[in-house]
Amino acid sequence: MAEVNKGKRPNVAVVGAGVVGLPTAVMLTESKLQPQVTIIAEQFSPNITSDAAVAAIRITDYQTFANDPRKVKWIGETYQYLSKLFPTPLAARLNLTLLSSYAIFDEYKEYPGVRDLVLGFRFISAEEKRVLNIPQDKTACSYLTFTVPCGPFLAWQLEQFKTNGGMVIQKKLNSLKEIDGEYDVIVNCTGLGSKELVDDQELYPNRGQAMLVKAPWVKYVIKEEFDGGSFSIYPRSEGVVLGGTKQIDNWSTDVDPVDSANILAGCLKYVPSLAQAEVLHEWVGLRPGRKQVRLEAEDLSENTVIVHNYGHNNKGFALSIGCAKDTVLLVEKHLNERGF
Ligand SMILES: Cc1cc2nc3c(=O)[nH]c(=O)nc-3n(C[C@H](O)[C@H](O)[C@H](O)COP(=O)(O)OP(=O)(O)OC[C@H]3O[C@@H](n4cnc5c(N)ncnc54)[C@H](O)[C@@H]3O)c2cc1C
Repeated sequence: MAEVNKGKRPNVAVVGAGVVGLPTAVMLTESKLQPQVTIIAEQFSPNITSDAAVAAIRITDYQTFANDPRKVKWIGETYQYLSKLFPTPLAARLNLTLLSSYAIFDEYKEYPGVRDLVLGFRFISAEEKRVLNIPQDKTACSYLTFTVPCGPFLAWQLEQFKTNGGMVIQKKLNSLKEIDGEYDVIVNCTGLGSKELVDDQELYPNRGQAMLVKAPWVKYVIKEEFDGGSFSIYPRSEGVVLGGTKQIDNWSTDVDPVDSANILAGCLKYVPSLAQAEVLHEWVGLRPGRKQVRLEAEDLSENTVIVHNYGHNNKGFALSIGCAKDTVLLVEKHLNERGF
């Protein structure tokens, strides 16, 4: 096999065009072996889960890291990547912001190493709690987080991909076997779609509902985290996003007025003036819930390898760059083994 492939240009497919698939596809076009890369996806932005994301980098949910410690490195890589983009004109096009983020808990448990991933981590004072309407008996920390509306980020990634010579096919696959033999490596970035596509029983929908309100006076992030959910306030260029539910195994994509009322009530505790904010839009997204990200290779057939990169749950954006880098390394390893 190695002899047959010598001197040939590898052919790689990336299935999925979300916040996980697009950066992976772009990085593949820039990788050493310069493969011909084709994205195959049933849907593109603005019709995918990734469009529902805030999207921000959060580091304070202990259990996420305890379940999958690789996420510490991956989030660090995404944060570093955004740090380099931040002081460039591209930050304006992407509406990339670096904001003070306040995380609030009844009881705070920190996963080792996470505070070093971000700029400005600190616990806040009693006086700061008073100013921010945070009860004194809660623990609250603050750090600087990047946020970016996913739409412009995905549009920019797709544009980069096409500029680098990438090809795009809009199509639903019912099985990866459908494209066996057409590509040397198939990268699976189908998010929750992998539940059906590769019959992954560890994947589950984690329903998130959110709303966009008009409140241009809100300039910082608030996130109260508790068992089973969180309340969050994220300023963005087009409004302030209030969230959000975390409902496991709930497949409903309808906006639930009970959830809307809970979200609003939870956020009003911290910013009472949000009561005056006009609600612009509400939506639901089904996160690809999985205890651990599936990032590994699997043989599809004698000639084709699959590299999986899915199951990022509530952190698809935050993990995207780190996971893309490791996926590209795996693809290169398999292409090298096959003599490319
Ligand atoms: C309300 C809400 C807020 C969130 N906030 C954040 C946040 O602040 N930070 C953060 O990091 N994350 C956040 N998330 C999570 C984030 O949205 C997800 O982790 C992320 O979108 C997953 O991206 P993905 O590319 O894996 O999946 P998707 O965006 O679902 O993309 C999957 C792609 O695969 C394609 N596909 C699927 N099945 C097939 C098939 N059979 N054939 C062909 N194509 C297929 C789809 O069409 C699509 O192109 C949030 C989610 C929600 C709902």
